[in-house]
Amino acid sequence: MKIACIGAGYVGGPTMAMVALKCPEIEVVVVDINEERIKAWNSDKLPIYEPGLFEVVKECRGRNLFFSTDTKKHVGEADIVFVSVNTPTKTHGIGAGKAADLTYWEGAARLIASVSTSSKIVVEKSTVPVKTAEAIGKVLKRNCQDPNVQFEILSNPEFLAEGTAMEDLRNPDRVLVGGADTESGRKAIETLVSVYAHWIPLERILTANLWSAELAKLTANAFLAQRISSINAISALCEATGADVSQVGHAIGTDSRIGPKFLNASVGFGGSCFQKDILNLCYVCESVGLKEVAEYWYQVVSMNDYQKQRFVERVISAMFNTVSQKKIAIFGFAFKKDTGDTRETPAIDVCKGLIRDGAKVCVYDPEVTPEQIFRDLSAPKFEWDRPNYSRSQSHMLENVQVVSDPAAAAEGAHAICILTEWDEFKTYDYQAMYDKMTKPAFIFDGRNILDHAKLREIGFIVYALGKPLDPFLVKGY
Ligand code: NAD
Repeated sequence: MKIACIGAGYVGGPTMAMVALKCPEIEVVVVDINEERIKAWNSDKLPIYEPGLFEVVKECRGRNLFFSTDTKKHVGEADIVFVSVNTPTKTHGIGAGKAADLTYWEGAARLIASVSTSSKIVVEKSTVPVKTAEAIGKVLKRNCQDPNVQFEILSNPEFLAEGTAMEDLRNPDRVLVGGADTESGRKAIETLVSVYAHWIPLERILTANLWSAELAKLTANAFLAQRISSINAISALCEATGADVSQVGHAIGTDSRIGPKFLNASVGFGGSCFQKDILNLCYVCESVGLKEVAEYWYQVVSMNDYQKQRFVERVISAMFNTVSQKKIAIFGFAFKKDTGDTRETPAIDVCKGLIRDGAKVCVYDPEVTPEQIFRDLSAPKFEWDRPNYSRSQSHMLENVQVVSDPAAAAEGAHAICILTEWDEFKTYDYQAMYDKMTKPAFIFDGRNILDHAKLREIGFIVYALGKPLDPFLVKGY
């Protein structure tokens, strides 16, 4: 059996590396139109950082795992084609700012149709709007010259989380395979299930109809993001009342109906998926006339924007209502720890908000390159997934500095903002940093990871999310 995967990104690369590791008799080729990315996959410096990924790639690359730009050859030869291309939010035209842009997906489908001389299973790995398989089916069928070629479309959404992708792939809560309820559809499902069954117990491989599988992915992301927005909403109320969001989160998380995960208040969720997929869900709801349902889910995104804005306003108001010309150290730019991914990271909106008020930000992140940070801070909203975006906001970069040493970021700064929960931030010598900062020195902990009592002992003025700001509030009545 030969598998090809179109799209060598955060999903395609790690997923196929795991398939190759666990199925040594299957040849797996990941193809991409981006030459630089493929070159990096074939080098010692992979294009994405993910703990444990390099070891797996090193073991399989050249054995049964290959990365190539020869899309036509490898897709043409494959029995199963995974499509793992980007599905960003549309930036113009009907549905701009909400609907999924399926340009890349349609391009992949046209490619598959044009090079296929044998029947294939086409697997939706990308997150797509419900009913995409119907549209893609038409593109495949009407563009293939060979009448004997049959395509069977499966939906196999990916539930991995960046930062823990390899562990999630090795030991997933579940794998979901959706297909048509026909004889050929069931056979295709069986074939894909047999690939995953190499390492995943059968009871964790769920099968469903195509539309349920497509919708389950959007729903999973909507529910996950909703938990974050819910606890973030409560964090605002905690700050106003003297409650502590960690205590509230712990108290509710011990209820087995609620559960303890995803209950940490933060500066907001980021990443390429949550916002994009909820907006996409809202758009699908609107398209079928479900305005109230769309509005319900849209609140999850609104609350996230509010949380980022609230954080910026907190920084500015705490620093005597002005950050003009003040150096602010930003610790962490990635949207979460253990990844170099900055797509939709809250750090972008926070930095832009501070810069708009005149601040000079100095950014340190252990995994994100300066080029990426400058690119993110110049890109218009929703343009991050497209290589040709305009740099119209590049004047903002005058007030941005990126450094490779956290102590250098803090030196002379009025404040430190923690925007990513990197473990190393907990281990710094904050006394030494404090000594070299402008006084009064502030810390705004946007992830609630530092020891606030200790920082206050050093002399910092500390603000944390969902923590009582006024000591009188905590004492009770
Ligand atoms: P990505 O941008 O990292 O990778 C997509 C790749 O597809 C790019 O390298 C791009 O060059 C390539 N591509 C686009 N069109 C192509 C074509 N016609 N032929 C060949 N290559 C093409 O995106 P990603 O983060 O890997 O996400 C891919 C999909 O998976 C998205 O739909 C996303 O929503 C979904 N998803 C992402 C995650 C995540 O954590 N990143 C998790 C689950 C699902």
